[in-house]
Amino acid sequence: MTVDDILQRGADGGRITPDEALVIYTEAPLHALGEAADAVRRRRYPDGIVTYLIDRNINYTNVCVTACKFCAFYRAPKHGEGWSHPLDEILRRCGEAVELGATQVMLQGGHHPEYGVAYYESLFSAVKAAYPELVIHSIGPSEILHMARVSGVPVAEALTRIKAAGLDSIAGAGAELLPARPRTAIAPLKESGEEWLSVMEQAHRLGIESTATMMMGTGETNAERIEHLRMIREVQDRTGGFRSFIPWTYQPENNHLRGRTQATSIEYLRLVAVARLFFDNIAHLQSSWLTTGKDVGQLSLHTGVDDLGSIMLEENVISSAGARHRSNLLGLVWLIRSAGRIPAQRDTLYRHLRVHRTPADDPSDERVVSHFSSIALPAGGAGRQLPLEAAR
Ligand code: SF4
Repeated sequence: MTVDDILQRGADGGRITPDEALVIYTEAPLHALGEAADAVRRRRYPDGIVTYLIDRNINYTNVCVTACKFCAFYRAPKHGEGWSHPLDEILRRCGEAVELGATQVMLQGGHHPEYGVAYYESLFSAVKAAYPELVIHSIGPSEILHMARVSGVPVAEALTRIKAAGLDSIAGAGAELLPARPRTAIAPLKESGEEWLSVMEQAHRLGIESTATMMMGTGETNAERIEHLRMIREVQDRTGGFRSFIPWTYQPENNHLRGRTQATSIEYLRLVAVARLFFDNIAHLQSSWLTTGKDVGQLSLHTGVDDLGSIMLEENVISSAGARHRSNLLGLVWLIRSAGRIPAQRDTLYRHLRVHRTPADDPSDERVVSHFSSIALPAGGAGRQLPLEAAR
């Protein structure tokens, strides 16, 4: 089987094996890989639409007992820089998000030693009561395992209770690298990759869908990257509960990892393309312009990506580790349009809310800007504006 044969089968919608995925990841010319992945994208989304989302990541606490080596966000319990936001503050931020047009909130935080299932029930039910229009696409399997442990209940019970309290779907957070060797190297106290997947599988069976992610660039091998994809595809074959796959690049600042590894843009684009060819059972592929930069984000639209993710009105986690890329809404729309695609705002379920067929349809609210802080809408209502070149 030649590289061309594998690419052709993938482009035609046939299944490729993990071994074949490794062959094309390491040997196929980038343009051929991108072309095959783009063929899959065109077949799935012949309308040429690329979607984006307006949402806000709100971190309820940075206190965490898990101490992942790659994480620049957390503080150990009793650390002087640890914080937990009161419910009022979280609701205030949700209100700002709604005012700026957000349709989704991503509540995420550290593994606080006192936060069990009851904490999350009160958090989600309060957000749902105050802002029923906001979709709560939040937390990840690590937080779910942690809350179940703190409360001494089975994972299925924790899932059932937080779903009843208002959780709509689960973010793919905490996947990092699922295979044991690279995972243990960067997050020795975190659950295993198998446990992470098991929580997702249980959630899917309880009717809670999710996304899946991958953090690349901490020194994992090419084979381990492909193994990560294999582990996700196997669960997806059983449940169909992953709505999208979202690879992103590790940010190397302010953390405890030895060495300063980071995936290159080419490695990232190759992985994106292989993911589109490999995941014949996952509908959407999202790239991470926030960690790779807008240029690579735009290039990824030619290697199989159909979704550019969120403008992120607030982000505190990866920005702590060095991600500095920002955009306003017009800038994000411009990225899509100048790649020859039609931009459309979507909701969490990937339904199109607003299709910008011509520049006349473009959004005009210049306050909708990504922020690396807790400030999305300063007092007085005027959001910070980026100069045009920064916005693009
Ligand atoms: S990545 Fe999450 S679980 Fe790991 S230390 Fe950071 S906050 Fe804690």
